[in-house]
Amino acid sequence: MKLYKIKKSNIDKRGLCASKDIKAGTKIIDYVGKIISKKESDENIKFDNKKDIYLFNLNDKYDLDGDFKFNTARLINHSCDPNCEVTGTGLKLWISAIKDIKKEEELSYDYGFSYDKDYKQFPCKCGMANCVGYIVRSGSRWRINKKFRKQKNLVSNFFQK
Ligand SMILES: [Zn+2]
Repeated sequence: MKLYKIKKSNIDKRGLCASKDIKAGTKIIDYVGKIISKKESDENIKFDNKKDIYLFNLNDKYDLDGDFKFNTARLINHSCDPNCEVTGTGLKLWISAIKDIKKEEELSYDYGFSYDKDYKQFPCKCGMANCVGYIVRSGSRWRINKKFRKQKNLVSNFFQK
């Protein structure tokens, strides 16, 4: 039985959700696509935007382009508090649970967009308590959100005492 199903999403038009309870660490779905050389991804205008959601770095030579209908995993949305991650080995990628996930809960992972001046082009509607409003990787979110900066300061003040 598949661990996921396609559903209407609160984050975007469509997403994937758990079709049953899933334990942390479980492999949920393969992330499939076409393996292309770095040269191809550098030269093809399709990948001109450095924040291509579906393009994954596999190694020094190859990327994986997951922008195909048959790649159901591409429907998984970004969240600021995700319950999955993209992981893999060699030329294979898949989506794994990083938390216990309840049946019907939407699957999500951090798209890992780096912070730059264009971050406002990618609003986030994940609705999580810690949502910063834009799709930016977790390590860079404090740059765009004063609330996070404050928390960061509070933590460092605490440790200085
Ligand atoms: Zn968010």
